[in-house]
Amino acid sequence: MKSAQIRQTFLDFFKEKQHEVVSSAPMVIKNDPTLMFTNAGMNQFKDLFLGNSEIKYARIADSQKCLRVSGKHNDLEEVGVDTYHHTMFEMLGNWSFGNYFKKEAIEWAWELLVDVYKIDKDRLYFTVFEGDEQDGTEMDEDAYNLWKAILEKNNLPLYKILKANKKDNFWEMGDTGPCGPCSEIHVDLRNDDEIAKIPGRELVNADHPQVVEIWNLVFMEFNRMANGELKSLPAKHVDTGMGFERLAMVLQGKQSNYDTDVFMPTIDKISQLTGVKYQNTLDVSVKTDVAIRVIADHVRAVTFSIADGQLPSNTGAGYVIRRILRRAIRYGYSFLDQKEPFINELVSVLAKQMGEAFPELLAQQELITKVIREEEDSFLRTLEKGIHRFENYLATANDKTVDGEFAFELYDTFGFPIDLTELMATENNFDVDMPGFIVALDKQKERSRAAGKIEADDWVVLREDDVEEFIGYDYTEADTYLTKYRRI
Ligand code: ATP
Ligand code: MG
Ligand code: MG
Ligand code: MG
Repeated sequence: MKSAQIRQTFLDFFKEKQHEVVSSAPMVIKNDPTLMFTNAGMNQFKDLFLGNSEIKYARIADSQKCLRVSGKHNDLEEVGVDTYHHTMFEMLGNWSFGNYFKKEAIEWAWELLVDVYKIDKDRLYFTVFEGDEQDGTEMDEDAYNLWKAILEKNNLPLYKILKANKKDNFWEMGDTGPCGPCSEIHVDLRNDDEIAKIPGRELVNADHPQVVEIWNLVFMEFNRMANGELKSLPAKHVDTGMGFERLAMVLQGKQSNYDTDVFMPTIDKISQLTGVKYQNTLDVSVKTDVAIRVIADHVRAVTFSIADGQLPSNTGAGYVIRRILRRAIRYGYSFLDQKEPFINELVSVLAKQMGEAFPELLAQQELITKVIREEEDSFLRTLEKGIHRFENYLATANDKTVDGEFAFELYDTFGFPIDLTELMATENNFDVDMPGFIVALDKQKERSRAAGKIEADDWVVLREDDVEEFIGYDYTEADTYLTKYRRI
């Protein structure tokens, strides 16, 4: 099944069950001070769960563009190293707002996965919340019994239901507000021989790279009060999220999300542009493969963000996007030997492949390509020198720590986001002195504040012999950039 059909099948399934199918909310959030990017399908329905806005549809389904690169959910470092965490991914979801509850959510999940998508039921595992003494919550017997009934009907062993703790199986919106237990569905993708070797198979769900969580069903039944106490909610809700790329991996019989048709066109194009073959190994010491996966992932995050109106910049959400893009550029530079821009050429592949589901990609294709190209151009200008400086530094370092001042120099002079410096340090078994970096950063802020004061009073003319330092581009209008220079 092609990925477009997988998405459509999900939406059609829930439409048939009287769900209103809605569009994805933007991935970049403009009006919520607590969240920069959508990181789960439920974000756009927050006000409905909180009772702050009127419920128009009691049942909703959609595919939501998500980005997990900051805050509570930060999967950036997993990307490319494992094969199923992305920065940007789609979360397929169905919701009930005070309408159906656990029974329907669980039975429909089974029906969709087993009867419709035809996933081998032997490979499915289910977690239920085990309860928490401190909260006074009991094990989720309802969810357990619902799965049990399904397993018994299908002659499957009960060890497929695993009890899980609060950390993984109790969802909370924040310190207060709606919350409740969840039930996750995992798929075991190991080959039969390997599975046969596991005693009892109960431990099958342990952290194994090929036992992958695909769907999370959240049952909001409590309201956490300011004193920590849980009160039963008058209207109970269902919030589910299934990783679209992971589902595609399962349905297309692959071992990695990158082997699905969601990523392969981009990967093929990267190989074609760079002349580096994707060897399709999960061995992380094969740096070219990691680099190709990282770039295939990051270009999606950046492309979708720009399509949503968030351009790379030096602050806030824009800087997050710039960081991701610079990370991709540097992977291309260091491991695929790319000294010239090429990532921008991947945008057309994405637009072609995803444009039907996300028309904003087609509409913005030209702008996105241009913006990425300019970012590549500008960063590649300083990257080589920065890497050179970095290598010299490592060669002469007394210990295994990159000191904060030097990390700041890379940041300030060569445009290296601090997480890039950390990544490069880690690759060389070095640490970064983060407190030292912060001190240097604060000092710079102080300096610019002081400089700002003078500039407000006096007209400062930059003389030709003044040392200027490039600190990046700032987006000003639809398609112009203002190059900013700062005196040092
Ligand atoms: P994991 O434990 O694998 O990190 P999670 O428990 O953090 O996943 P949820 O918050 O429950 O994920 O999100 C719902 C679903 O979204 C998951 O079951 C998974 O299929 C998918 N998902 C979560 N994070 C990612 C990601 N970084 N990339 C791709 N899919 C993801
Ligand atoms: Mg996670
Ligand atoms: Mg999880
Ligand atoms: Mg989960």
